[in-house]
Amino acid sequence: MSATHNILVVDDDSMMRLLASQALDASGYEVTEAGGGKEALDCVARKKPHLILLDVTMPDFDGFAVCRALREMDDTKNIPVIMLTALDDVKSIGRAYEAGATDFIIKPINWHILVQRVNYVLRASEAFSALRTSQSRLEHAQRIAHLGHWEWDIERDLIQGSDEAYRIFGIEPGTPLDSARVSNTIPAEDVERIAGGMRQLIKHGVSFSLEHRVQHSNGEYRVVQQQAEVFAFTGARAKQIIGTVRDITVEKQTEEHIRRLAFFDSLTGLPNRRMFQERLTNALALAGRREKQIAVLFLDLDRFKRINDTLGHAIGDAFLAEIAARLKTLMRRSDTVASNSEDREEDLIARLGGDEFTVLLTDFKHTLDAAKVAQRILSEIQRPVVINGREVISGVSIGIALYPEDGRDVDTIIKNADTAMFHAKSSGRGRYQYYSAEMNASAVAKLALESDLRHAIARSEFLLHYQPKLDLATNRIVSVEALVRWQHPKRGLVQPGEFIELAEETGMIMELGAYVITQACLQFKQWQAMGIDLESIAVNLSPVQFRRDDLVEHIAEILDSTGVPPNRLELEITEGAVMHNEEKSIETMKRLKALGISLSMDDFGVGYSSLSHLTRFPIDRLKIDQSFISDLPQNQEKAAVVRAIVAMAHSLNLATVAEGVETAEQERFMKAVGCDQFQGYFLSRPIPAQELKALIEKFHKLPAPSSFARNLVVG
Ligand code: C2E
Ligand code: CA
Ligand code: CA
Repeated sequence: MSATHNILVVDDDSMMRLLASQALDASGYEVTEAGGGKEALDCVARKKPHLILLDVTMPDFDGFAVCRALREMDDTKNIPVIMLTALDDVKSIGRAYEAGATDFIIKPINWHILVQRVNYVLRASEAFSALRTSQSRLEHAQRIAHLGHWEWDIERDLIQGSDEAYRIFGIEPGTPLDSARVSNTIPAEDVERIAGGMRQLIKHGVSFSLEHRVQHSNGEYRVVQQQAEVFAFTGARAKQIIGTVRDITVEKQTEEHIRRLAFFDSLTGLPNRRMFQERLTNALALAGRREKQIAVLFLDLDRFKRINDTLGHAIGDAFLAEIAARLKTLMRRSDTVASNSEDREEDLIARLGGDEFTVLLTDFKHTLDAAKVAQRILSEIQRPVVINGREVISGVSIGIALYPEDGRDVDTIIKNADTAMFHAKSSGRGRYQYYSAEMNASAVAKLALESDLRHAIARSEFLLHYQPKLDLATNRIVSVEALVRWQHPKRGLVQPGEFIELAEETGMIMELGAYVITQACLQFKQWQAMGIDLESIAVNLSPVQFRRDDLVEHIAEILDSTGVPPNRLELEITEGAVMHNEEKSIETMKRLKALGISLSMDDFGVGYSSLSHLTRFPIDRLKIDQSFISDLPQNQEKAAVVRAIVAMAHSLNLATVAEGVETAEQERFMKAVGCDQFQGYFLSRPIPAQELKALIEKFHKLPAPSSFARNLVVG
């Protein structure tokens, strides 16, 4: 050992001190001597020795006391101490170790052995101290790296961790741990994943690396990465598992930040071009599989360059940020696009750059919805923006491209939306334009129609025409069907085919439907007063009306207020309306029937159901769709179908009505196959109410050219 090692020799016997010093000095050690316990502690305090030779029996402080005192102080607790004891003193040896001695040597001392022992203890001590240093370095390094390690003894369910592991899990270092205590720190959503990984590891020895969250008792979440592998097996099963845990919260936050930089526009906070393209790509893939529609709106601010040039870039930027905020609010409103599909992707609005924005609409119901969104954007952006107390006004031009009509890939769709935007600009700005010309024309017309329709009820522009139905057995006009018309101020009389669907889409059908039933009932009463007592008045019920919850009460109220007995009202319902929710439909129909109202299945044959399926519904009558009648009797197939429908309907106790009978042959055919009633141009077109009386009288007087007119009786 080198001369730099300092040995403190403590003994009250000066002879012993001298001999020890000589032996050690001869081996190159530097020696300090102390004559008692107290002096020894003073010496240590002055200069820390590398090793202490300590006599047990001393008058003031004995060796045990000195040793204990050394072990209590951080500074001296690791100094190796060799105790010098008497041969017969076995007890002392035990006490020496208890007091913290490193080793002992028995008197009388063999000085040669003493030196060897000192050499050995010093070497061991140095090895220990190196290990301690490296351990503390490791811990330090782990703390810097936010890396902890742990061991899990599976059989005893005992987990030991490094201080950093404890810190990461938010548990006081040194707390005894089992698997349940550790699981408690993992949020419920993550637990099963970790448990699954552990099971694989224990059963099959598959190491894992998983990311999950940890929640500290103060509620704070950390993201950690766990890696684990088997350390020891009993047979095939894992007995001990070791793992590392790393706190990666900050990395995750950085990642998110980088993602934001890559996918979002820093001025407006909106998604950027890259994100838009990515989302459009996904939306296209999804739409392709589900046959859904997609629209891309391409927005370009009008005259933005002038704002920038005249007011400066700072105002230009503030203006863009405000526009972005308005667009965001607009798109967040759930009513922008009507859709009830659950797996609908979020609509997206992005800034492509400069004053260009794009909007992605996925899975909307009607092509026209894109125009409606465009219209809202137009009016939203036209409102002045106030910046630093001054009003800045711009407009926007919008191009609309649709998938699949206007393109099937990202680039084509964006390019075509851009082209459409360019057209919007060149035809006057502050407007929207569909890419396809037909789409554009029809959208413009339809939107105009919609806005007109909103005023039509208030302006009393609706009126009813009535089409009579003839009973084939008695040749009597027994009923009329009310059919609505719209007296448009500019376009004249508009047929229901042009506006019923729109009224349904917009919900206006509710008001319109109520109007039709009320008018028809009032008219029925008026005819009665004139002596025309029809068996019934038939009214068409839209599926939207049929589904309203208070339908039965609503109709009962109309019947009550108009004084029409319920058994004189016939409601015509389509298959589509009742198939929607069969149980509920049957319930509604039963309640209508309980009132006394009779029910017809309208347009039968074009729908979905088989006749036998229809028996589930409490209906009275089938109206055979006019598409089956139109090429009768020449079309053999249709003739056979109609024959079968009538026969089967009768076997199910349902009456039949043929729609759209236009010729005498068709009338004869229907009579021949046993159909109960018919309606159609051959008898009469739908006519205004005041013409019904004359019509009935005309048929009544006329020498009949056809079978029905011959015996015409009006009841
Ligand atoms: P629908 O219930 O099937 O009405 C029969 C349609 O066929 C009527 O058309 C009628 O004018 C037409 N029609 C009658 N006889 C003949 C014929 O011999 N040949 C041909 N080619 N056509 C004939 P309209 O009045 O244009 O009504 C169309 C549809 O609009 C109706 O079909 C009905 O679904 C709906 N609708 C009409 N009024 C109302 C209403 O007040 N409420 C509801 N919800 N829907 C209505
Ligand atoms: Ca009808
Ligand atoms: Ca019909």
